[in-house]
Amino acid sequence: MKLERRSTFGWGATAAGYGSCHLGIVIHYDSGNLGLHKKPHSACREYWKNTRRFHMGPARGWADIGYSFGVCPHGIAMEGRGPRRQQAAQPGGNSTWHSITLMTGPAEDITPAAIEGVRQLRAWLRKNYGTGAGVKGHRDFISTSCPGNKAYALVRNGTFGKAPGASIPGTGSGGANGIGEDDMVGLRKGDKGERVKYLQVILMKAGFDLPKYGADGHYGDETEKAVLAARKSQGSKQGFGDRITGWAAAQIMTAYVQKIAK
Ligand SMILES: [Zn+2]
Ligand SMILES: [Zn+2]
Repeated sequence: MKLERRSTFGWGATAAGYGSCHLGIVIHYDSGNLGLHKKPHSACREYWKNTRRFHMGPARGWADIGYSFGVCPHGIAMEGRGPRRQQAAQPGGNSTWHSITLMTGPAEDITPAAIEGVRQLRAWLRKNYGTGAGVKGHRDFISTSCPGNKAYALVRNGTFGKAPGASIPGTGSGGANGIGEDDMVGLRKGDKGERVKYLQVILMKAGFDLPKYGADGHYGDETEKAVLAARKSQGSKQGFGDRITGWAAAQIMTAYVQKIAK
């Protein structure tokens, strides 16, 4: 996971009090279209700093930025109040849930990188802070448009709640049912088909080229080499795995997210 801590933005420790945040994550958005997906990541950092300024200024007067975290369209998680802190984000759940804002507006699509970024952040919170499995949208707490219809659909259909590396609707080449069909988890050398094609496209977008065969849907030597290179780039020392585990898939997706964030 790529996580930028408060120090990245020049912020000291938060003044927010402890919150158990043990129930899960709540997804938010911005009410304006920001266009951050078309800009370099430095614009996301600028947005994050401005958001804190606004939240602490006369309009809001809060002790800190309202959210626990943000995840930008490049898939990078950015720390707000951080783990297990009370928030000013979703009344009724400010101390029992972690808030994550997507930094997008109503007309903007949620990028595959952002989806993967949320999944990795959620997995990290679950592992290190005992956060529960829940995934909600702001509008589940109060009457609001937040997190927008696009993100809320992904809340409801379970997209954010899947493991890192699982399929992302619209990026794979799976069937009309989308979710779950093109997961790379479980694939092994010798496999053929649309799920292999999905793996190959992700590998190429992550910078691990398949110069000879491309995304041909056959998991052969060339694909195997690219898988190992992607895993190695994430610090894996394992020389060979006979199938793609959840951990391997997460490494490949992390390599992909990092590449497109550049
Ligand atoms: Zn919200
Ligand atoms: Zn960004």
